[in-house]
Amino acid sequence: MSARIIDGRALAAALNAETARRIAASGFRPGLAVILVGDDPASTVYVRGKDRAARAAGIAAESILLPADTSEAALLARIAALNADPMIDGILVQLPLPPQIRPRAAIEAIDPAKDVDGLSPVNVGRLFAGRPFLIPCTPLGVMKLLAAADVSISGARALVIGRSSLVGRPLAALLLTADATVTIAHSRTRDLAAECRRAEILVAAAGQPELVRGDWIGSESVVIDVGIHRLPGGGLRGDVAFAEALPVAAAITPVPGGVGPMTIACLLENTLTAALARRDQPARGQPGRG
Ligand code: NAD
Repeated sequence: MSARIIDGRALAAALNAETARRIAASGFRPGLAVILVGDDPASTVYVRGKDRAARAAGIAAESILLPADTSEAALLARIAALNADPMIDGILVQLPLPPQIRPRAAIEAIDPAKDVDGLSPVNVGRLFAGRPFLIPCTPLGVMKLLAAADVSISGARALVIGRSSLVGRPLAALLLTADATVTIAHSRTRDLAAECRRAEILVAAAGQPELVRGDWIGSESVVIDVGIHRLPGGGLRGDVAFAEALPVAAAITPVPGGVGPMTIACLLENTLTAALARRDQPARGQPGRG
């Protein structure tokens, strides 16, 4: 049997259409500022993609391109100005940053009410307390993919491979809030294959191309592949050996066309969530549990 493919592209298109509809109905245009320091080629492509998608949804998007030698103080001053700007609802600092700027300092400078990447300490704390507000976009996208694929999370054994603040940790918190029994694997985990075989929901976010092999996957398991790796000759691979996993898993996300498109779609939704909260209107679509 072949695994069911979970189509992230279709789900992202539907979410973007819904966000655009809600923005059109809101009577205002949310403002999003994306700051890029330097000209890292991959980051430049991501920032352009975010800008384009935001504008298409009716968001007033602004890309702020700063030179690679920008000082930390200058970046923090720029963020402070955006915090104070009433037209701006969302602020995102594209990572990685040049070595003279501490990423933590930049992230912690963003007003938590405008922190659409969900990485500031207030939003991380709320997430781990089971009362999330702005949720990091990639983990939020993974939860939406699981929901769209009708995966039953409550009581399921979930394995998250990776413990980064961007993906692994927040995703583990979300799965826990959704009542999964969560294991977090990382670079020091012994016998990752055995951990994978036990998992009913397996999320790979290790940043290692094709780390998860077909014979690590149980026949009932749902596999979400967060990894993105560019091949030297073109094309993309994930953290899962897709061709080996396809005949074994119950359901799987492809790379490309799985988690990737959901990340930007969730950024747009987060921008609307922040805009509604700043205007004191209730946001829908965010999981919130006590
Ligand atoms: P990261 O490098 O910050 O973290 C990787 C994590 O994986 C670490 O916690 C590490 O302990 C763990 N790890 C590394 N090797 C391992 C191994 N052999 N076994 C078990 N654990 C191992 O990476 P990240 O920012 O969390 O991103 C992970 C992957 O997801 C990357 O491929 C990245 O490109 C991709 N990514 C995709 C999206 C998207 O929108 N699809 C967004 C963010 C990141």
